[in-house]
Amino acid sequence: MQIQKWKRRKRVFWHESFAVQWNDAKIFTAHCPCDDLWCMIEGMIASNEELIHELRSLGYLKTDRLAEAFIAADRKFFVPEAMSEHAYLNEPLPIGEGQTISQPLVVAMMLEFLDIKAGEKILEIGTGSGWQTALCALVAYDERTSGSNGGWDVVSIERIATLHTAATAAIRAWNKGLSERIVFLQGDGARGDAEHMPYDKIISGASAADDIPQAWKDQLKIGGRIVAPVKNSIVVLDKTGKNDFLKRDFLGYSFVPLVIGK
Ligand code: SAH
Repeated sequence: MQIQKWKRRKRVFWHESFAVQWNDAKIFTAHCPCDDLWCMIEGMIASNEELIHELRSLGYLKTDRLAEAFIAADRKFFVPEAMSEHAYLNEPLPIGEGQTISQPLVVAMMLEFLDIKAGEKILEIGTGSGWQTALCALVAYDERTSGSNGGWDVVSIERIATLHTAATAAIRAWNKGLSERIVFLQGDGARGDAEHMPYDKIISGASAADDIPQAWKDQLKIGGRIVAPVKNSIVVLDKTGKNDFLKRDFLGYSFVPLVIGK
C-alpha cells in the first residue's frame, strides 16, 4: 500500500479512533469524528516500527545506530498514560506543566546533526519526558568501557521539578542500567553544568530567545558541537578553536522557550 505524503497542517492528537481504507481509486474513507484528511493519515501510524519507517523514508532518520536507539527507546514509555494511544504520531504531545515531548522528526533531525559517537560526553538541556535523554544515552553508550567504569555518558538538566522527577523515574523503569549512565539535574540549564564539563556534544530542547548561551560554548570541547534552537531556527554550532565557531542555521521550526534564571 502506498501512502502519499502531505505536509502536516494541523495538530491531530486529540482524535480518538480511526478506521482508514485505501482503494484503487486512491480515495480515503475514514470513520473519525473530525473527517479530517491529516487525521486519517496520522492515524495510520500505530506502531513504533511504522513511526521509524516514516522517519526513515522521509529522510530524517539516517544512521543505523540512531535508528536502533529509536527502536529500543519506544516513545510509548515516555508519553503520559492518557496520551499513550497517540505515542507514535509524528507530533509533539503534552507532558504536563505546559511542556511537550518533542516531535519525532525534530528529535531525529537534531540527533542526526549532533552525530553522537560511542563514548562521547553529552549535555542535554530540557529533559522533558526523558525520551531524547534515553536516545542520547543509547547512542553515547560504549560497551567497551561503560560497563566497568561506573561513569556517566549524559548529563540532562530540567528546570521543572515534576518533569525532572517523572523523567528520572520513567528512564529508571525503562532501563535501570542505562539510567545509571545518566546524571539527572534539576535547575536552570542555560548555565550548563560546570561540574561535569567539558562536553563533546550539547543539545537543547528549548529555544533561546537571542543566541546560544555563552556557558554552553565555554563548556564545549574544541572539536565539539552544539545543536540547539534559537528563535525559530535549529542552530548547529561547531567549536573550531577556543573562541572560534562555525555556525549553520536551519529555519522554520518551533520550540518551547528556554526559560533563563528561574
Ligand atoms: N526533548 C524533550 C522535550 C523538551 S521540551 C522530550 O522529548 O521530552 C523542553 C524542555 O525544556 C521543557 O521540559 C522545559 O521545562 C525545559 N526547559 C526550559 N527552559 C529550561 C532551562 N533554562 N533549563 C532546563 N530546562 C529548561
